[in-house]
Amino acid sequence: MQEGLHKLIPTDDTIVAISTPPGRSGIGVIRISGCLVERIAGRFLRLSTPLTSKRASLGKWHDEEGTPIDEVVATLFKSPGSYTGEDTLELSAHGNPLILQRIVHSICFAGARIAAPGEFTMRAVLNGKMDLIQAEAVRGFVEAQTLAQARTAMLQMGGTLSRRLAPEKNQLIDILARLEAGIDFAEDDVSVPDNHVVAVELTRIQEKLVEIRATYTFGKILFQGIRLAIVGKPNVGKSSLFNRFVGAERAIVTEIPGTTRDVLSESISLDGIPLRFSDTAGVRQSADPIECIGIQKTMEELSEADLVLVVLDASSPLDAADREILSRIAATTYVTVLNKCDLGVICEPGSDVAAAIKVSAVTGSGMEELRNAIREKVISNGQDSSSGILTTARQAENVTRAVDALKNAVAALNQGVPHEMVLLDIYEGLEQLNVLTGEVLTDDILGRIFSTFCIGK
Ligand code: GDP
Repeated sequence: MQEGLHKLIPTDDTIVAISTPPGRSGIGVIRISGCLVERIAGRFLRLSTPLTSKRASLGKWHDEEGTPIDEVVATLFKSPGSYTGEDTLELSAHGNPLILQRIVHSICFAGARIAAPGEFTMRAVLNGKMDLIQAEAVRGFVEAQTLAQARTAMLQMGGTLSRRLAPEKNQLIDILARLEAGIDFAEDDVSVPDNHVVAVELTRIQEKLVEIRATYTFGKILFQGIRLAIVGKPNVGKSSLFNRFVGAERAIVTEIPGTTRDVLSESISLDGIPLRFSDTAGVRQSADPIECIGIQKTMEELSEADLVLVVLDASSPLDAADREILSRIAATTYVTVLNKCDLGVICEPGSDVAAAIKVSAVTGSGMEELRNAIREKVISNGQDSSSGILTTARQAENVTRAVDALKNAVAALNQGVPHEMVLLDIYEGLEQLNVLTGEVLTDDILGRIFSTFCIGK
């Protein structure tokens, strides 16, 4: 148990929660963790065979008056060989919410309390069963919306990212020890580490951390998805293209220019990465106040989009409005789409415009090529999560702070600042990595992370 935390977050009591979703189901699982587990089991469970750790036993659960409530399968996990590190009991009862509540009621009657969201996992962290990155991965796994997210979260639960960070942490500890020794025992013939040598070592660690931080670009895309904005003049087929993608008549398609006034959005998955489409109002000057709002939103969307699909009408020549749009998106990451190719291609975007993908929203031709073009733009080569990647903003923030601290340390060393001062920056760098993995825990961090968990996890 980590020092100083138990005061605010009680961990010496017994917690209980229904771990399966609300509603009727085949079975419902109740989880209990804490020192009262065996006493509670002894009081309410009537089993044909005695409870043995990690063995399922069939029996009847009785209420406080000794009346049988349900037949259950009970599995005891003795401390420390459990998820939380404490004695844990998992009860698989029939999935009737009334019965499950009744069982929970009897457990609370015997001295347990209802667990807060994520409290089982928090106890696992506090008891050293997993680090904070692994705990975050548990949440990521439960909430994964694509298999690619689940795969990454599972690797993270196994500790890939924590292992990737370990060498840098160890090197920092080693540097700190040498610098400390140089200060403490300077008179006892302990050599003072050379500034240049330490600066080179710190720079190497910093570079490694920058490399790790760069994995967040992919981690963020993987977990938060990509925001795609579809822009173009009215009537070029943006709504039709959007519908093709999401496979439903989501946007209103009309032949009157300027009818897509709201920024609609919808999600689909591309290789396990969620794509959030925004079907935006036609980018053009308009006197209509409602449309102006739409256009303003489009420009906002553009600034927030990870990728822009700029749609041109292949069947008519490029005009000033198209050019205006192309100039506005020049600084963004974009794919040019020549729509309405079924009507013939007479539009020539020119060599200054990124290679155009020829499609037809009506016939569906070219859609696979368009998906490939999006894939190439957003999932650059060599990005995979098997070596451990950052997946949350918190993780990226801690690594950034560690990098900054080490940068300061290197600058200080180069300026000949006394080692006592340089140490502070290096300690700060190490502290940030320790906060990242959870060797240093605060109530604030625990609160932020575990409050977003579901009950019973
Ligand atoms: P938006 O204003 O850019 O959203 O354009 P819409 O999607 O509302 O389409 C405007 C008109 O063009 C509609 O009549 C569509 O049926 C038509 N349209 C859209 N895409 C294509 C296409 O690929 N080929 C043809 N022939 N017509 C299209």
